[in-house]
Amino acid sequence: MSETGVELLRERGLHVTPQRLAVLSAVTSHPHTTADSVLDRVRASIGSISRQAVYDSLSVLVEADIVRRIEPAGSPARYETRVGDNHHHVVCRSCGALADVDCAVGDTPCLTAADDQGFVIDEAEVVYWGKCPQCRSDRGVPQGTSQPNTNQPKTNQPEPSKR
Ligand SMILES: [Zn+2]
Ligand SMILES: [Zn+2]
Repeated sequence: MSETGVELLRERGLHVTPQRLAVLSAVTSHPHTTADSVLDRVRASIGSISRQAVYDSLSVLVEADIVRRIEPAGSPARYETRVGDNHHHVVCRSCGALADVDCAVGDTPCLTAADDQGFVIDEAEVVYWGKCPQCRSDRGVPQGTSQPNTNQPKTNQPEPSKR
């Protein structure tokens, strides 16, 4: 199952270019990467390439289902080469760390909607949100975040009796 990038591109009827190969290998080696880090890695491996060329290559690869694009709310799009299994992602609310989560049951059960309303469904987008282990262990050190409510519960003072 270890197809080379060249084979993969040819299989999908795409022209094999050094740019596309470099983009593909940058995504393969760093899953869930952003377009900007792809740009950095591609520049490191093949030298100068325009941002636009990297974006173009990414979108060609996404179109061809070689690369999957995921867009968690509030985060730049991420790219990965694990395609076709409709796996889900868990995102850290604090630092944006992102990890794969398999479907809860079997292969792509999420694609079987209880009622498809007559639609032909090809994707179910499920994003789990939470706090990654790293951020959970940092929780003793709040960084510039507002302090939790410091209102102490009022102690019941007996009413002074004026009689
Ligand atoms: Zn985190
Ligand atoms: Zn993933």
